[in-house]
Amino acid sequence: MQVIDHLGRSFSSLRVSLLNTCNLSCSYCVSDNEQKKNSTNALSWQNLCSIIEKLEKNLNISTIRLTGGEPTIYKNIIPVIKYLKTNSKAQIKITTNGYLLKNVLENLDNNFPDAINISLDTLQEKTFYSLSKKKNIQKVLDAIEYALDCQIKIKINTVVIKNTNDTEINDLLVWAGKRNIPIRFLELMRMGHFFQNNKFESSFISQQEIISKISNQFNIKELGRLKNATSHDWETQEGYKFGVIANESVPFCNDCNRLRLDSYGNIYGCLSSNLPIDITKIADHFTLKKHLLEALSHKKETKFEGSELSMLKIGG
Ligand code: SF4
Repeated sequence: MQVIDHLGRSFSSLRVSLLNTCNLSCSYCVSDNEQKKNSTNALSWQNLCSIIEKLEKNLNISTIRLTGGEPTIYKNIIPVIKYLKTNSKAQIKITTNGYLLKNVLENLDNNFPDAINISLDTLQEKTFYSLSKKKNIQKVLDAIEYALDCQIKIKINTVVIKNTNDTEINDLLVWAGKRNIPIRFLELMRMGHFFQNNKFESSFISQQEIISKISNQFNIKELGRLKNATSHDWETQEGYKFGVIANESVPFCNDCNRLRLDSYGNIYGCLSSNLPIDITKIADHFTLKKHLLEALSHKKETKFEGSELSMLKIGG
């Protein structure tokens, strides 16, 4: 039984949310009063890895991306990375806020992930604090330099918020470009507390606005969007590579290949459909494929329509 839908989409990128807690409180992810509940009955890391292996046996998984909440505060992050690097054929990648990344990399005995996406929404300590309710942005900047020294492939993710960090777009582009790091500017997503209130419109900056800000200072060449990719890419005359992930204004559902697994053993076929499917008790291939087809049917046809789920719960 092939797990493929009428648009020819199938699952080849698995995003695993290891936990639903984080050490930062980014305003575009969690609301001020949103309590960060610990994952009380989350699966053990061994059980989570055996579900990952089960999915790998039934799907052609090329990438496993570890997310959260924040994966670097997951107490078993080291054994999970080492286990997957040893036992999985897929590329092992992480999406992190970078705050505790250096500690994790120092304890991996060179079993480094194949690639890391690091969130960096500002270069300013003051803005870092107002956005994330945490001090000491230098920890993130040092982790990026350390990952570069370890020769790990990294990309920067910047969520652009109107009247918060939109004036820093070109500074961040130069900062990343000078270190030869591709940077992606993310449109704000209608998720969690931005799904249920009207603050979204007043905070949203579109791909078009981002490109116009960059074109004011740089000559740019369009590179397009790779198949299954989320970012639409460009390059400046100086060779700085950047992209925009435009969930809202230039959606990319038509060739979406992402399957999400949370820390309780639920799969989600689409970020925009809060429809978890519990696969913890499934033993046979046939039943698993039936559930995977169901998850695939939850995918949007054309565009992300928002979700009450926050990134804290399901990761990017
Ligand atoms: S909204 Fe759903 S189908 Fe569209 S890109 Fe996101 S996860 Fe994929």
